[in-house]
Amino acid sequence: MKKILAFDIDDTLAVTKSPIDDRMAEALIKVAKKFQICIISGGKFEQFLNQIIDRLNVEEKFLTQFHLMPTCGTQYYTYSLLKKNWQKIYSQDLSLSQRKKIILELEKAAKSLNYWPKKTYGEIIEDRGTQVTYSALGQNAPAELKYKYDPDGTKRLEIKKILDQKLDQLEVRIGGTTSIDITFLGIDKAFGMKKLIESLKIKQEEILFFGDKLQPGGNDYPVKAMGIDSIEVNNWQETVNILETINVLTI
Ligand SMILES: [Mg+2]
Repeated sequence: MKKILAFDIDDTLAVTKSPIDDRMAEALIKVAKKFQICIISGGKFEQFLNQIIDRLNVEEKFLTQFHLMPTCGTQYYTYSLLKKNWQKIYSQDLSLSQRKKIILELEKAAKSLNYWPKKTYGEIIEDRGTQVTYSALGQNAPAELKYKYDPDGTKRLEIKKILDQKLDQLEVRIGGTTSIDITFLGIDKAFGMKKLIESLKIKQEEILFFGDKLQPGGNDYPVKAMGIDSIEVNNWQETVNILETINVLTI
């Protein structure tokens, strides 16, 4: 019996970096009345609010059903009815010197390959504390440009190869559509799922995970590889169809 539905964000619940559709908001609210919901992504906490939580028109008590795991579960937030806000349960930050070195090496690598764009949309390199993220075109680039930029990951793989040499004590991972995430070694979505299992004292058989990149090498694959039942979707429309079906069947 599943107790928790866990979701990646980009291309699983929403178009990359965009807010969820009304249809998805409605389906998520309904499903949160029957299951606990974990959302896990390489993104930062503010994106979880902008893309999902702020779009849910829901009684406060249902927010306690949500478990938010930004930056692959190196941070964990739950909602406190007492404090009427989201509370950080933990955050495993990189040291300042590690973050400085990552930023320096990222910029050097992207420039050496001529991948540093002339026109940018927001920050290229963002220090998220627990993770440093490179977004090739900038954080706020339009989705259609992002999808076209590096569909098979070739450009980012070239950058990763350089960084794997320079930052050998850290994890360099190709993320969403244009990003590279750098964290402590061994941080991926499976790390987040293990933390969730520990925190909620549940069994991994009680989780059902939805992701769009469940093939080996994809950023959702580690969850499947650790043995969590997983459903692969191509886009949020497939996810919402499944959620609406679950909602009808579990009335
Ligand atoms: Mg995704």
